[in-house]
Amino acid sequence: MTTYRVEPGRRVELDAWDPGDRSWFEDGKKKGVRELSELRERLDELQALLYAEHRHKVLVVLQAMDAGGKDGTIRSVFDGVNPQGVKVTSFKVPTPLELDHDYLWRVHRHTPGRGEVAIFNRSHYEDVLVTRVHGLVDEAVCRRRYAHINDFERLLAEEGTTILKFFLHIDLDEQKERLQERLDDPRKRWKFRQGDVEERKLWGDYMRAYEDAISATSTEWAPWHIVPANHNWYRNLYVVRTLVDALEALDMRYPDPEEGWEDAVIE
Ligand code: AMP
Ligand code: MG
Repeated sequence: MTTYRVEPGRRVELDAWDPGDRSWFEDGKKKGVRELSELRERLDELQALLYAEHRHKVLVVLQAMDAGGKDGTIRSVFDGVNPQGVKVTSFKVPTPLELDHDYLWRVHRHTPGRGEVAIFNRSHYEDVLVTRVHGLVDEAVCRRRYAHINDFERLLAEEGTTILKFFLHIDLDEQKERLQERLDDPRKRWKFRQGDVEERKLWGDYMRAYEDAISATSTEWAPWHIVPANHNWYRNLYVVRTLVDALEALDMRYPDPEEGWEDAVIE
């Protein structure tokens, strides 16, 4: 079976990863959408179990170019999951207070507690991506940061966090269509930023920054997945399947009931 998991130590060249690929699920969109809704139900059950067991922690990191589908993935994959026990953090341009600290300072407090799923919409990776592309940090600093990040994620993993990192990979043409749609659709227009048009011109630099970051930080304890994301249903299906598989591997069980529950009488 095709998988989009990046083996640790493998050098990633994004040109070799087709954003329009659909070879991992060969039965087509109609069956894919049906499978997606079955997997969502399974995810709901597993998340209820995670919450009840109160032992494991799950961190989902989403990175993508503008209009890459981070918001849509969160909406679709977690549709139907009990919001209690799931928290989303969207990382924006750092505030002055955040800039006065190391770049992981603002991140650590949003990592999941026991029984929780934390979703990062952008993440600590911005500090080796957008900052790199704009020359705020150079390659040497990035290399040091990859090491920090691997250590940080290892700390989280060793303390009971399952970490899943997804790069939602679209191509330039797809981004153009999606940005145009933001202009054309009054309900999406609020999302449009002139800045996105400027960033788009730096596409190649972003791809190089992603290649370096993903190659250096796909580890056994926190692997990257490069998800073909031109097709929304396919992207959602891959992400939910990967999450379900990871949760099933945790081998969770509901806590034992309170002693004496058999004798309880409810009057
Ligand atoms: P959005 O996700 O569309 O709401 O945009 C958030 C913006 O914040 C993006 O342009 C990110 O590149 C930017 N951003 C997020 N984290 C950082 C960071 N650590 N340093 C600089 N810019 C950031
Ligand atoms: Mg944006």
